[in-house]
Formats: sequence, structure tokens, C-alpha cells
Amino acid sequence: MEKLLLGIDIGGTSVKIGIINQQGEIQKKWEVPTNKLNAGITIVEEVWASIEQKLSILHLSISSFLGVGVGAPGFIDMDTGLVYEAVNIGWKNFPLADQLKEKSGLPVFVANDANIAVLGENWTGAGNKAKNLIALTLGTGVGGGIIANGSILNGENGMAGELGHLKIEEAGYSCNCGNNGCLETIASATGIVRQAINQIANHPNSMLAEIYNKNQTITAKDIFELAESGDTIADEIVKKTADVLGQVIANLGVVINPSKVLIGGGVSKAGELLVDEIETAFRKYALPRVSNACEIKIAQLGNDAGIIGGAYLVLEQMNNDNS
Ligand code: ZN
Repeated sequence: MEKLLLGIDIGGTSVKIGIINQQGEIQKKWEVPTNKLNAGITIVEEVWASIEQKLSILHLSISSFLGVGVGAPGFIDMDTGLVYEAVNIGWKNFPLADQLKEKSGLPVFVANDANIAVLGENWTGAGNKAKNLIALTLGTGVGGGIIANGSILNGENGMAGELGHLKIEEAGYSCNCGNNGCLETIASATGIVRQAINQIANHPNSMLAEIYNKNQTITAKDIFELAESGDTIADEIVKKTADVLGQVIANLGVVINPSKVLIGGGVSKAGELLVDEIETAFRKYALPRVSNACEIKIAQLGNDAGIIGGAYLVLEQMNNDNS
């Protein structure tokens, strides 16, 4: 029987685990809470205990599996599976692959969580096995991932594809990374809400101000809904955000020359409107040859992208070893 793959996606609140076949289809998936006590020292043990329990219920043995692919937040040495640093879990120079190898006896491969989600999305989601692809995840922050010549870009020390920290504004808002004016300070949900709050001060009679005054808060979703219903101030915010993203993609386009750009994350779910506006801005800024080769699409796999990408990483790395 064809062997199965284990995909693990370690997040700040939960660890998603999936049993996946070699066609990228999820056979079983579940999650366990991320135990961040004592700098996350028991996470691997707890995750593996949960996997053993599940395998026993499913009457599967370890020998049914080809390997384990893991996504972890933070900066990763993909050659050794060492997590240099994962701030929101507490890991520092944490030998993730070694610990999981010891538990499982299987080959283990590790990548950054954003990158692994891109691999999943490119395997069975909207990427459709693109050789050159850029992914942008617009959520609380802005995540990114790049596939070039068929491989994920990791860089010299794990920083490649950290697109949220492209410098956009000279005197912009301060960013979690210590710099200021990063893409993330504008195009994340947080950034979009901040743009709205600035506008509310200038336009106290706007619909935006009305919603804010009623709820004492405003969300990116409110802003997109107002823009769709024709509110000019909300529309300006969406257009400005899309314009920045379109220009970023056009600039990245002359570096990567992608066939696909995928937009994912909570903000992208807010509607087709933003993606349409991003596409308009991209086509306006991009060189014609870059634009002609490139489609902009919404990511499809949502929370499953990480575990599917983990499974893909196993196949990819093991095929590399054999070649
Ligand atoms: Zn930054």
C-alpha cells in the first residue's frame, strides 16, 4: 500500500495535525492546544502522544508513514530542522526535527509556517503547481511566501519571503519587527483598521464614524462592507491598501516573474472587492511581460494549507534525496 504522510502545523494557540495521502488528500485531521508553558518544552511530546493515540484508534502503525513534515512559526534552518527562534511559543535554538525524529523514527522535515502553507496551497489549492509564485497572507499581520524555480525560498537565515516587512512608508507606523512603515502596518487587518480610525477623526459625520461610535470599535470587515455599499471614505481605504499591495506585487514581479499571486488570510475573506482592486493596481504598475504571465487568485485551503504543505514537504525532500 502507498505510504501515508503526516503533516503538522504548529501555531501559537493550536497544533494542527493531518494524515494525508500522496495525492494531497486529508484522510484524518485534528488539533491539540499549543502548550506554551516552560517555553514550549513539552509541545513535541504532547503532539506525538496525540498522534500515537490517534494511530492506535485508526489501526495504523508508524510503518504506514513515509515521513513527517512540520511548519513552525519563526525562523528555521531547513537543513537541520532547527528553530532559531519562535517568539510566540518561546523556542530558541530548538531542535524540532531531532526531537520528532527521536519520537517517531521517521524522516522529519521542518519549514516556516507561512512557507509550508504556501507549499500546501501550491500543491492542492489555488497555486495549481506553479513553478514561480508569490503568496501574501493578510491577517493580523502580513505573511508571505515565495516559490522560485519550483522551490520555496528560505534564504540565508530564514528571512526570505517575509513580505510583511517590505519598507513602504518612510515615516510610517512602528512595526513589531522594530522598523517602521512596513507593509504590515498598512495592509494587515490592524493596519486597515488604523487607517479607518485616522479617517474617522477627519470625517466625524461619515458612516465609518457612525459605526465606530455605535460599536466603539471597527473591524476590517466593517470597512469592506461599507466600501461595497458605496461609502467613499471606506472605499478610499480599500483602494489605498490595494494600491500599496498592487505596487508591491508589481515590484516583486520583476524579481520572481510569477505565474500566480495568491492572496489569503482573514482580510482576503472580507471579499472579492479587495482582490479586484489589488489586481487593478498591479496591472497598472507592472511591466507588461510580468503582468501578462501572472494571475492573481484567492487562496483556497484556509487552515488546512499548513498540514497539506507539511505532507508535500516530505514528498519533495524525499524525492530530492533519491535524485
Ligand atoms: Zn516590520
